[in-house]
Amino acid sequence: MFIETLNALKHVLWPTRCAACDVLLPEPDVLLCEDCSDAVQPAADFVCPDNIERACAVFRYEGAVQQMIAKWKYHEDYGARHALLACLPAQLERLRECIPQNACIIPVPPHPKRLRERGFDPVWQFANELHKLLKRNDIPTDFRDDVLSRTRHTPHQASLSHDERMHNLDGAFHVADGFTADHVVLIDDVVTTGATAATCALALKNAGIRHISFVALAYTAKS
Ligand SMILES: [Zn+2]
Repeated sequence: MFIETLNALKHVLWPTRCAACDVLLPEPDVLLCEDCSDAVQPAADFVCPDNIERACAVFRYEGAVQQMIAKWKYHEDYGARHALLACLPAQLERLRECIPQNACIIPVPPHPKRLRERGFDPVWQFANELHKLLKRNDIPTDFRDDVLSRTRHTPHQASLSHDERMHNLDGAFHVADGFTADHVVLIDDVVTTGATAATCALALKNAGIRHISFVALAYTAKS
């Protein structure tokens, strides 16, 4: 009773806002307003990038999802990150198609320069949360953030076509000597053409990894 009263008081003093559009929420225990909640859609039509066996994306990169990812990536907004990651358990069964037991989860590494500027890595945070969720569901996986590295800084890719991106990324990733795994699951946040994932997968293939799948947080159909 006391806790309930305290929570109600907290909500009056510090009202909760929608993690995507910032509208005031009527209740303290929801993360998104109804409109944004309805707008969050799983990505069912995600096309598998080159060099990868199976791929899936949690969301379509649009509307409320796009707003929350921007808040998370560019403003380190904890509420937006929390609201996005809170959707993962409901998607786990679908994501499992790309994540076999005992797979090795590897986040796509950021540009060191961008990591320095930002001070945190949303891809790492997403991969780590997914790894913890799998563990809670008795699905053992390995998590390695020391395997894949960028060998050079690559220019922004937003305005480039798929082929230009592949050329831009050629040889940009290095796999640590001696790394082995039966199955690697690459993780990235927003995927457009899949060129980054395809380039990482090629580096892993060249290092002898036979099975590679890919999980993205969000997929944008923009080319
Ligand atoms: Zn909203």
